[in-house]
Parts: sequence; structure tokens; C-alpha cells
Amino acid sequence: MSIENPVATASDVTAAIKQDFIRQIVRDDLASGKHAVVHTRFPPEPNGYLHIGHAKAICLNFGIAAELGGWCNLRLDDTNPGREDPEFVEGIKDDVRWLGFEWHGLRHASDYFDVFYRSAIKLIEDGVAYVDDLDPEQMRAYRGTLTEPGRNSPHRERSVDENLDLFRGMRAGEFADGSKTLRAKIDMASGNINLRDPAIYRIRKVAHQNTGDAWPIYPMYDYAHCLSDAMEGITHSLCTLEFEDHRPLYDWFVDHVDLVNHPQLWQSVVAAGLEARPAKPRQIEFSRLNLSYSITSKRKLAQLVGEGHVEGWDDPRMNTLRGLRRRGFTPAAVRLLIDRVGVSKQNSVIDYAVLEGCVREDLDATSARRMAVLDPLKLVLTNLSEAHEETLPFPNHPKNPDFGMREVPFARELWIERDDFAEVPPKGFHRLKPDGEVRLRGIGIIRCTGLIKDAAGALIELHGTLDPETRHGMPGADRKVKGTIHWVSARHAVATEVRLYDRLFNVAAPDSEEDGKNWLEHLNPQAKRVVQAWLEPAAAAVAPEQRFQFERLGYFVADRIEHAADAPVFNRTVTLRDTWVRQAGS
Ligand code: ATP
Ligand code: MG
Repeated sequence: MSIENPVATASDVTAAIKQDFIRQIVRDDLASGKHAVVHTRFPPEPNGYLHIGHAKAICLNFGIAAELGGWCNLRLDDTNPGREDPEFVEGIKDDVRWLGFEWHGLRHASDYFDVFYRSAIKLIEDGVAYVDDLDPEQMRAYRGTLTEPGRNSPHRERSVDENLDLFRGMRAGEFADGSKTLRAKIDMASGNINLRDPAIYRIRKVAHQNTGDAWPIYPMYDYAHCLSDAMEGITHSLCTLEFEDHRPLYDWFVDHVDLVNHPQLWQSVVAAGLEARPAKPRQIEFSRLNLSYSITSKRKLAQLVGEGHVEGWDDPRMNTLRGLRRRGFTPAAVRLLIDRVGVSKQNSVIDYAVLEGCVREDLDATSARRMAVLDPLKLVLTNLSEAHEETLPFPNHPKNPDFGMREVPFARELWIERDDFAEVPPKGFHRLKPDGEVRLRGIGIIRCTGLIKDAAGALIELHGTLDPETRHGMPGADRKVKGTIHWVSARHAVATEVRLYDRLFNVAAPDSEEDGKNWLEHLNPQAKRVVQAWLEPAAAAVAPEQRFQFERLGYFVADRIEHAADAPVFNRTVTLRDTWVRQAGS
């Protein structure tokens, strides 16, 4: 069974025209005729799965293209062989689609390896690149510091011919890893360290996931990235703030290589049948998305997986997109978060509660209701006969009749939540207590008439009576009692495993290192608890990824991988209310 989604999603509701400084620049460029079509790209490195931070870059790049009738490429930035894996490439494609976007072109930086190589030869011929023999450590020593200028390498004045010869030797695999580097000849005294003769190519005899052993040299990020943008005709190259100081270098490479006016450099791309319309891109920086109680670094997420702190990249505790998906988060909720956060150059940390608020908002509107009991206590209604059995129509959604009705079986023996009963009730307790009354959701008012305990004094069962005068259609149906509790018929209930997830870290800034602790010391041991629970039948026989609100408990999703109709497994996406505000305040 699958539940239709007849209502507007939270992000449809907020689909008003988005305003931020980047969209403003793009709109101005379209209005002035600088560009006829906006062309963006999302350029992840396939060295891990995407996380919630990437969602910001995805929604921005794909969103702008979609809103303004442009194009957005998905480009796998695969210039670091060894760390990259085709598994991650497939995962990234999947996650982008899950978020609701489709790319114009799918590209790899490695599609342009020949372009990068020819462009490097051009730079050497133009006298603005040279082969250096300094090893990485020496190069660091020559580079200088923020306060001291660097020094010229002794190899900086090699002739063009000698440089061409050495670079071709690098390409032919004649030199050992790290023994030579191709560098741009810019300015070793520049106030911007990125311009102190940055590396263009290094020797790395490592097989590449796309090109195999074809290349013993690989281009550096700062060189490959801007030329890939230029190759694809990217108009606005949106990246995070840490690249602000790299922008002069970005422009330097684009201008000095000048793909637009040198088509001989990109013949291989044309020959491969890839769209090639080089243009000069403009880099614009925006702030990263940081989320409290979580980590947005692929390296650290990889460490959590590698060291077994979680069960995989898609563990529902992970803030990877696949973790969030398995946890039951909707693409609409993630997009809503990104809309709420907005785009600026201001670095900030978004409270995890904002993300939870977004998913509650979306799921409240889009999830059918069901009853489940997570910590069961038996309740026997002694004034019903052993054979008593009826099914009652329940609305699937309290506010939206389009969700329709379902049949819920009711009988003499029920499961209720253990904490909906208190033998010694605290002040203000409005649920069930000895000789007290409470409303059973959809049935009527019951009174607690007896407690059954085992030899050790532990409560094992409650007895109660149902007031027939309070049933639907009876004169007392509207009689008021303070509390309402949910229940499941014991005879009809379906056993399920429920995984109660919570935040992965128990402090807001796990990797701040302010307290001198390693970030792993802040893992929340309560972030996953597994309980055996009971479901009403209509909650059990559903497809994986079916989401429900279990009344009074929270939003839950049938596990994408392990759920089966005859052996249900549900994950708690989020509780109905924020339980962390209270904890933080106490
Ligand atoms: P990580 O440090 O987690 O590996 P990254 O920036 O190295 O992240 P990439 O795969 O290179 O990861 O990122 C692809 C794109 O996503 C880049 O344009 C990058 O700026 C952007 N991005 C990565 N993390 C965030 C974030 N937290 N907020 C916004 N954009 C991000
Ligand atoms: Mg990176």
C-alpha cells in the first residue's frame, strides 16, 4: 500500500521568488545581456557521499538554473586518483536526483585531461610556466609566509625548450613521484600566497577511476577547476568562501590559457562529442552551511564509517543525504532548510532544531497517521467479552480529509504505552492512574480498575472498563476527560522493530576542540536505541520508505533497506516536539 500525497509540500508553499545577492547578480547579468543563458555547475569530488552542507550548493546551483531557465552541470571533480571511487560517483548522482534535481550535462574533470595538458604546454610556450625540481618540503620553505615574501626557485629561469622537454618527460612517466612539478610563473612576492608560483601539475603514478594508467601526472585543483568551468561555458562559478583568496588565481589561469580564443586546446572534447562552448566564468563565493550537533566534513564522515562508529554512509544518524533519507527526511524538508538558511557571505552555524522544524512541517502535512505502541503495557477491558471484536473507521489525517479513512481493529485486550500509566501520578499527570479516567483515542472513556503485578511486584497488566455511554453516537460521547491515549489491539497488533534515532553528537559544536576534547568523544551513545513495538495492522504492510506519524510519538519511516511487510522495521525520523530545548535549559 502506498499513501498518495495530495497536499502541497512545505517548499511549494515557500516557492516565492528567492532573493539573495547571487541571484541578484545573475538576474542583472541576464537583464544587461551579458549572458543569454545562466549556466552553473555542482562540482563534488567523488571521495565520499554528499552531506547536508552539499545540499546548499546543490540547491543554489541547480535552483538558480531551474528558476532562471538556465542549465546546471553535474561535474565530478576527479583529479585526485586513489581517494576517489565509482561507488561515490553513483551515490552522488543518486543523491542529486533524490533532492529533486536533474543535470544538463554530466561531466568529469577527467574528460578534460587532454585540455589541461595542452593548456599547460601553452603556458610553458608563453613563458608563464616552468618545471621545478624542488621537492614539496623545499617548495614550502621557498614559499615564505603571510608576513615574508617567498624566494624564487633556482629552476625558475629555465628556457622554454628545457621546460617543454622536462614536462613531456613528466607526462611520459620518466620521473619519480614528487621529483618534479610544473608551476605557474606569477610572483613569489605576492601578498596573496596563492599567487606565489602555484603548482599546476604533479607526478603521481596512481591509477585513475576513469582514465586508468593513462596519466602519470595530475592537474592541481586550482588549475583544473577554473579550466573545467571555462570549458563548459559556466557563467557563474559558485563556491564556498574559503576560495575567495583563490579567485585571482582562478582568473589568472582562465585569462592566460584563454580557451575561448584557442580551440586547438580543446579538440579532444569536440572529438569526444561533448558540448564545448568555452566562456569566461565568474567565481562568486558564499558561506558554507554548518549545522549544530553535526559534522560537515567528508573526511570526518568517512572516519565515522571507517572506524565503525556508525553502520555505514547511509546510517540514519549520519547527516549525509543518504543517511537523512534513510532516517525519513524528505527532499522537500531539506530544500526548505536551504531556503530558510538563505545565501550570504556570513559564516554561521544553523541550529539542528531548524532542520528538525523543517521536516516536522513537511511531514505534518504529508504523512498519514497510525497508532503504534513502543513500550507496551497490557490493558484488559474487563467489561467487554473475550470474543469482542470490531473495526472502526479512523481518519488518516486530522486536518486533511483527502487522506481518506482506514479500518482499525479494536478488542478486549490492548497495548498502551507504559508511561501513559502512573501508579503514583506526578502533579498534573492527565493520563491513566488507579481509579482514574482517560479517553482511548477513537473509542471512548475508560477507567482503570485494577493492577496485576508479578511476584517481584512489577506491574504486568492493567484492568479497566470502557464506559459504553461515551462511545461514538452515544449521549456521553462528548463527556470531557483531560487526557487521550493511543492504543493497539493486542490480538491484531503486528510486531515491529523500531529504531529510535537522535542527534549523533551530544554537544552543539563537536569539532570546535574548544574543550580540548577530540570530536569523537562527543558521540551521543543514545543516538540509536532499538525497541520491539506493536503496530496497528494498517501500519505494517507498507512499502519501504513509507512515512507515518505514529500518533503522539513522532514521525517514522519504514526502513529503506531492512523493512518487509511481514517483518516491519521503522526508523524514527523526529519526535513531535523539540526535546532538546528542555534538556539544554535544565
Ligand atoms: P568536504 O570538506 O566535506 O570534503 P568539500 O568542499 O571538499 O567538502 P566537494 O566535494 O569538493 O567537498 O564540494 C562540492 C561542492 O559543494 C563545492 O562547491 C563546495 O564548495 C560545496 N560544499 C561543500 N561543503 C559545503 C557546505 N558545508 N556548505 C555549502 N557548500 C558546500
Ligand atoms: Mg573538496
